[in-house]
Amino acid sequence: TTTPTYQVTDPATGEVMETFPFATDEEVEQALADASTAFATWKATPIEERAAIVKRVADLFAERAEELGVIILEEMGKRLSSGSGEAEFCKDIFDYYADQGPALLASTDLPGHEGKAKIQRLPIGPVLGIMPWNYPYYQVARFVGPNLVAGNPVLLKHAENCPRSAAAIAKIMDDAGVPKGVYTNLYATHEQVASMIADPRVRAVSLTGSERAGTAVAEAAGRNLKKVVLELGGSDPYIILDTDDVETAVDTAWATRMENMGQACNSNKRMIVMDRVYDDFVASLVKRAGEMVPRKGQDDGDAAYSPMASRKAAEGLRAQVQDAVDKGAVLHVGGELADGAGAFYSPAVLTGVTPEMRAYREELFGPVAVVYKVSSDQEAVELANVVDYGLGGAVFSGDEDRARAVAEQLDVGMANVNTPAGEGADVPFGGTKRSGFGRELGPLGIDEFLNKRLFYVE
Ligand code: NAP
Repeated sequence: TTTPTYQVTDPATGEVMETFPFATDEEVEQALADASTAFATWKATPIEERAAIVKRVADLFAERAEELGVIILEEMGKRLSSGSGEAEFCKDIFDYYADQGPALLASTDLPGHEGKAKIQRLPIGPVLGIMPWNYPYYQVARFVGPNLVAGNPVLLKHAENCPRSAAAIAKIMDDAGVPKGVYTNLYATHEQVASMIADPRVRAVSLTGSERAGTAVAEAAGRNLKKVVLELGGSDPYIILDTDDVETAVDTAWATRMENMGQACNSNKRMIVMDRVYDDFVASLVKRAGEMVPRKGQDDGDAAYSPMASRKAAEGLRAQVQDAVDKGAVLHVGGELADGAGAFYSPAVLTGVTPEMRAYREELFGPVAVVYKVSSDQEAVELANVVDYGLGGAVFSGDEDRARAVAEQLDVGMANVNTPAGEGADVPFGGTKRSGFGRELGPLGIDEFLNKRLFYVE
């Protein structure tokens, strides 16, 4: 199945603002031909020159942060300060790869074979990125930054509800001097994506999105023997073993859960709280959630909630919560979808979730805090690992050794102690189990789509 079309729909009202036509098959063919041609010159361009262009990309993200913020406010509802903050973070990502790329890509002697055998880090050719709407700039930046510096041309298929941000990114690439064919945005259909994956000119694929999309893309990549990186969903555990300051613990947990209206792959989807703290924690969380009001302006601060990205997403979340309530869970506050075509869903707190409920194993991609009560560290670990996802996880305790011991047992790609998430352009990101495979950002992010060629001279 393919999406009806690329369009901007204001999630606050459901009103369709602008529609974009799909790419034609001729445009897709042209993009493949251009990327293939551009590869020859781009890989031969000295890395310092590639890095200098990427540095200009970084600067343009910062210069245009405000207007970039407005675009995604209208596309997917992100409040203005978060949207422009996201653009600023993209500057960090492009800067990081421009600055560190040359060192990260340097050849290294093979220990024991100095002067004879080395590992070279070479580009592989055009790579295809398929990206989601929740962080329309950041998701693209962490894929594009390392690949451009490494010498791989990029073909980019963005989510159907992000055509304006996709165009704004392409414009930045153009204005920064990225040569024709080295970066191409395509409003491609799913069928065109499949044909690009099958095309020998495309050498690898990276997808951030749902398990459903990950399965389809990995299947096509497998059939065509292409390497794939998948950043999929998560249902991250957020474990509070003890605290002498429940209010601060709730502040942090709630802020993390509400980040991007709960539409973040690695936000704390399941709060697992020790019995001694549990009652106070839930009471404070419910109070906090109940104080939230719908956002009216472009940015009304932390106490206001934004619409979710689409009515469809909000309806999906409501169905998951309703399933839990029907089977006996307690909805303490929120969980109401506003009338009309908009996507305002009031922030909710859910407890009493049990294994037969969808909410127990599925990802809740929206502003719903699920809180579980446990009575031992071992029980917390077991509950944390019960889901099929393995993206991130966080453990909090006044006793760092105790938190470390629990964190060591999390089956995740990112384990955090006494912080919701250690993040940054220089910190790798990715998961295990059904959260996907491969890493983005940091030194590992540039390592995915390289030919690590052995060069042996006798
Ligand atoms: P989605 O429906 O999977 O969409 C993601 C991208 O994949 C879009 O560009 C979409 O295009 C494309 N796509 C979907 N099915 C496809 C197919 N069969 N062939 C080719 N392309 C296809 O995901 P979403 O619901 O928008 O995003 C939310 C999910 O992403 C959540 O599960 C979230 O946890 C996950 N996520 C993970 C990370 C991470 O780093 N691990 C980060 C952010 C989000 P169309 O729009 O045209 O369908």
